[in-house]
Amino acid sequence: MGNPDPICLIDNKLKISVNEINKYNKKYDIYFIPNIGGTKSKDITDFKAFFVDLDCGRDENGNYHSLNKVRRFKESCLAKIDNFEIKPNVVIETRNGLHAYWFIMEKIDYELWAKIENAFVEHFNSDKKVKSPANQMRVPNTFWMKDKDNPFFCKIVRINDVKNYIASYCTMLKNEKIEIPASKPKISITPKYKSQYKRKMFKSYKEVFDFITKSVSMFDYLKKYYNLDAVSEKSFRCIFHNDKKASADIFKTDSGIELYYCHSANCGFTGNLIQVVAKLEDCSRSKAINKICENLNVKYEENIETMKFLLDNIKTIDDDIQYSHKDLYGVIYRYLPTLRALHFIALKNIIYADNEKDLIFSASTNYVAKTLGKNDKKNTGADISLFCLLKLIDKIDLDNDTVSECYKQYIKRFQGDRDKYVNVYSIPQYNYDKLSECNEMAKQVKEKNLRKKHFTYESVANAFGADTADRVFPQVKGKRVRDIDEYLLYAIETLLEKYGYFTENSVREFYRENDKYFKENTFIKQIPAIMQDLDLKKVKASKLLKEKYNILSSGYPYLYIKKVI
Ligand SMILES: [Zn+2]
Repeated sequence: MGNPDPICLIDNKLKISVNEINKYNKKYDIYFIPNIGGTKSKDITDFKAFFVDLDCGRDENGNYHSLNKVRRFKESCLAKIDNFEIKPNVVIETRNGLHAYWFIMEKIDYELWAKIENAFVEHFNSDKKVKSPANQMRVPNTFWMKDKDNPFFCKIVRINDVKNYIASYCTMLKNEKIEIPASKPKISITPKYKSQYKRKMFKSYKEVFDFITKSVSMFDYLKKYYNLDAVSEKSFRCIFHNDKKASADIFKTDSGIELYYCHSANCGFTGNLIQVVAKLEDCSRSKAINKICENLNVKYEENIETMKFLLDNIKTIDDDIQYSHKDLYGVIYRYLPTLRALHFIALKNIIYADNEKDLIFSASTNYVAKTLGKNDKKNTGADISLFCLLKLIDKIDLDNDTVSECYKQYIKRFQGDRDKYVNVYSIPQYNYDKLSECNEMAKQVKEKNLRKKHFTYESVANAFGADTADRVFPQVKGKRVRDIDEYLLYAIETLLEKYGYFTENSVREFYRENDKYFKENTFIKQIPAIMQDLDLKKVKASKLLKEKYNILSSGYPYLYIKKVI
């Protein structure tokens, strides 16, 4: 349950440990307290759950109703629970009814707990006596022993690990026309708060709006993220005009929304947290929402168009390109999981998605590797660089002047939070023309014999030129390209002249015969550039080619030969 270490009691008195339950349950009823802190209401400090006790009651003589009658009562209660907007985390069947629990993810105070608990009791018309935070509730999978001759096994009938948050409880109970007195679920924006909200995902605009404007303390937010220099939210110097006296305050409307209000006649700024942030950042409303969510470590996904755009891309690479753009497919099919992962990561890490052509997201290589279930950061990085070379994705170079200033500031702020460099990418729409462009790049990658395994700035620059290398590796942009190794070139030209072909091995042999040290890395890095300069191609030896070049070895090695013979 929500409480990892509940206090167990027998017959409402004696405390026992969890291990002793079975022993005592032979004679006694076993209870626990869902919340933490003690056995009395005033001792509870940690609120773990809301609960309702749906009890069939007793007849006029004080006897329990028949099990049949109770069963019909339970069925109707369960139907009501199942129809309720927010699924309870646990429902326990007892002899005389049902206990339902809704867990609490955040830290809340007694005042707010009591308000929502009361709203639950009212909605379900449950036992009015059962609404104390220290209420003793029946332990599931134990026997009801009030009638020792007819024990009843109390079992779990519903279990659900969905995480519900205070904001949604409030919204839901309000939708049910249950009055929740205006309250301030005061959430300070502290690191602790961040972790509590880490996995929260808002799916609708309303949800995220309620959360930001009603649950987040604007005062705390402004102090933390905009260095608001103020002691009290009741009076401080306005941040939107040159305020000599304290003209601004923050107050709560009847609907529970916090508003910033400037009393100065010349300024008079009035707005909720989203509007405040939009003005401070000079950005759109939706960008302000994204900004706030990001700061609070919560996610908000509303943009269906963005989702469709990304899913269309995935379908295109999965289903279409193997027929329509074969060269591209041939080069990337082994690395499709990485490309897919990047799309799914984009979905969750969108920085900007203004329209279908402008989708920017961030992800560290490590994060992409982890998403793929790999530890191999290097390989994943090479996959990404290959996609980038092929123009399937673009790395955003923050130092590039063509990147708009608005992006830059936003992205830099975004990265400021992180200790490591987080890459920023954009994904184009994979329409036919775009894929044709990628396909052309793929052809060249094949022709130039550029191997993904040895993808470096140098090898890309050698094969495609510095501009392309800058595009693929913006983080090491402008790195000097080493000139082609003269001895390697000499070795290759000599072998070509003598035999009409060479292999990696024959080059190695040439080095050995001339007492030179052969560096495999140099060979791998420089071969694409040499192939381009000498107009070579790489082919697998066939019987015919072996005859032609008089190759006696038994295998079929890769041969480097002149393109036009
Ligand atoms: Zn003002």
